[in-house]
Amino acid sequence: MAYLIALDDGHGMETPGKRTPYINSLGRSIKENEFNRAVVSFLDEELQRSGFNTLLVAPTDVDTSLATRTNQANRAGADAYISVHYNAFDGSFEGSNPSGIELYVYPGHLNREAGMLAKSIANYLKKGTPQEFRGIKEANFHVLRETAMIAVLTENGFMDHPDEALLMIDPEFQKEVAMEHAKGICDYFDVAYVPENGGNEWYIGRRVESIFQGDLRFYNQPSWADSAVAGYLQYGYGFPTILDRVIVEGSPQYKVENSQGAVYYVTANETYVRVV
Ligand SMILES: [Zn+2]
Repeated sequence: MAYLIALDDGHGMETPGKRTPYINSLGRSIKENEFNRAVVSFLDEELQRSGFNTLLVAPTDVDTSLATRTNQANRAGADAYISVHYNAFDGSFEGSNPSGIELYVYPGHLNREAGMLAKSIANYLKKGTPQEFRGIKEANFHVLRETAMIAVLTENGFMDHPDEALLMIDPEFQKEVAMEHAKGICDYFDVAYVPENGGNEWYIGRRVESIFQGDLRFYNQPSWADSAVAGYLQYGYGFPTILDRVIVEGSPQYKVENSQGAVYYVTANETYVRVV
């Protein structure tokens, strides 16, 4: 019989306080639930495709109470409870701005089943997103305490970190986060992950080359920083093998290999490169 996974999108759309500071470039703030809800929706698809049954414990935008959420999962006899969130430090872009991913389990469960599930998800989050990994922690949160099944809460970035705030509304990032959750859940339950297009992404293993009239930067790490520039490509020059596609501060890069096996990163923006 298929496993049942309860999916929790954290908060209501209008839950007070759960939003980024005002973002000048957008002319608004981003609500935490914009991210949580999108990831839960992608994760729902990913899990169903891989053969799980799912239960959305707060399918509407209203502020569903935590007790309602966990009661539903308990009544349905879910096998695991996944609560998707975005973190906050001090609610301001000023001053110190921590960043990165944290996962939480109930106190005492780090080395029990919930901890194993969290590790399994963390393995993929570490690989799939270029963010700092802050570890798996224990906390006495309602959704971890009042759930009768193994429960993991994930904080997938910081709302008050300027770059991570913008990632919240990047569909590529949302999808990446959902996919990493799904792969980790599949591993834990020993279920084969079924990818969206039946296997390899179309660009994997192909050549990418510059179509930019000028010097196109490539990087020695997933970054856009001047300090990470490893060299420049001229028009028509490129790399023989694409290994992966990653999102860096909201924009895609290909992870590539040159003929000597050295690994670099180059923009995946179709204005600058083409895959041949
Ligand atoms: Zn939250």
